[in-house]
Amino acid sequence: MKAHDGMYIDGAWRPADGRDAIDVVNPVDEQVIGRVPAGTALDVDTAVRAARAALPGWAATPPAERAARLAALRDVLVARKDEVAETVTAELGSPLKFSQAVHAAAPIAVAGSYAELTATYAFEEKVGNSVVHHEPVGVVGAITPWNYPLHQIVAKVAPALAAGCTVVLKPAEDTPLTAQLFAEAVHEAGVPAGVFNLVTGLGPVAGQALAEHPGVDLVSFTGSTAVGRRIGALAGAAVKNVALELGGKSANVILPSADLAKAVNVGVANVMSNSGQTCSAWTRMLVHRDQYDEAVALAAEAAAKYGDRIGPVVNAKQRERVRGYIEKGVAEGARIVAGGPEAPQEQGYFVSPTVLADVTEDMTVAQEEIFGPVLSVLRYEDEEDALRIANGTVYGLAGAVWAGEEAEAVAFARRMETGQVDINGGRFNPLAPFGGYKQSGVGRELGAHGLTEYLQTKSLQF
Ligand code: NAP
Ligand code: MG
Repeated sequence: MKAHDGMYIDGAWRPADGRDAIDVVNPVDEQVIGRVPAGTALDVDTAVRAARAALPGWAATPPAERAARLAALRDVLVARKDEVAETVTAELGSPLKFSQAVHAAAPIAVAGSYAELTATYAFEEKVGNSVVHHEPVGVVGAITPWNYPLHQIVAKVAPALAAGCTVVLKPAEDTPLTAQLFAEAVHEAGVPAGVFNLVTGLGPVAGQALAEHPGVDLVSFTGSTAVGRRIGALAGAAVKNVALELGGKSANVILPSADLAKAVNVGVANVMSNSGQTCSAWTRMLVHRDQYDEAVALAAEAAAKYGDRIGPVVNAKQRERVRGYIEKGVAEGARIVAGGPEAPQEQGYFVSPTVLADVTEDMTVAQEEIFGPVLSVLRYEDEEDALRIANGTVYGLAGAVWAGEEAEAVAFARRMETGQVDINGGRFNPLAPFGGYKQSGVGRELGAHGLTEYLQTKSLQF
């Protein structure tokens, strides 16, 4: 795999400050496929200075021109979509078809949506005797995870550039090659030097330095709640803007009037896709007690069909973590009806698609984010009980409701403490705001709501 041995700063690939490097590993065969520099605080500082220097020019660039750069970026992502898919497959391990359909395609849709939005957005509005200007927040420090490596980057960088902000990105250490490819795409799209900068490196070193840097005005983070909490505390102490997209433990609520087989099959597919490494995955399936046994049998059958069609999880640590959760579930009284903690094959970080039945709401597997192909099926007595269980975690990122009538599902969804709900299997919408209630985060990404995260207002009175 192609890898740059420098950092993309101020419009060019520049030598890294230190000599330390990160090996990039293919999770399917555990082979090293590339090596990137491990950034230091000095690399971060150089990148932030470049972003600060570029800020006035980019902020003053007319929205139509910023829109044109984003449209060009989308076009590059289209032209290089096969390369994107192959790179994500190589470092994340996802099956190539999934990389093409999701990892390469979603960022194209999101970049395209921001190209359109930038061209039409009212960056100026009249409120009584005032004119309110929506101005860029400033320099953005973006810290992203590995699970949707390009999507997570584009969901921050596209709205930031649309708003007139400049960016320093610290991508996940497991998927830096996709980030380097993105930097090439930004360059090819004609985005001016310094507007976007990339520093690869480790979270506690380069990530921490970026979050702490006084030259950063907004820290936008996606990842674990543990790290998000630290970043939020740092930002609070420095009175900086912060956006946090954290974990989830979303409920898939199947009401008795629903098409049970469809709800279960779509629910299993939702959890198994990307090997369960999706923060918004519906990892808790809630089924009425009268339909419980049937639902469990359907879920076990559906999961077994996935077999070896899902990819591995991202690294050995995640594999051990996920297997540990399955074992903990069994120790606390859950019953394995598909999959299990045993490694399905000797090589690669694979975990079997697993379904746990007889899960109760207080169990660890019903409360903590597992981030692997593991579905827990819970039993509810009546609708109030289902709502109580659905809302009974610290998280509130996503969810699903299934019912015979849409109105019944909507009424239930309105009572859920969560940022997104799919009604009877609703489709992904790149313009719909995405983000968490409760400890799933602060702020929203995507669409116009995502754009406002990168804007601040200035009111002029007349
Ligand atoms: P993570 O540690 O929170 O990683 C997210 C990003 O933050 C990565 O770029 C990471 O760098 C960086 N980071 C780590 N420590 C940091 C620090 N002290 N200061 C600043 N940045 C820091 O998540 P992970 O270790 O990759 O995954 C652990 C768990 O997080 C998963 O099992 C899952 O539960 C959750 N997760 C959630 C999402 C989501 O979309 N909500 C995504 C991924 C993971 P490194 O890559 O070098 O660690
Ligand atoms: Mg980490």
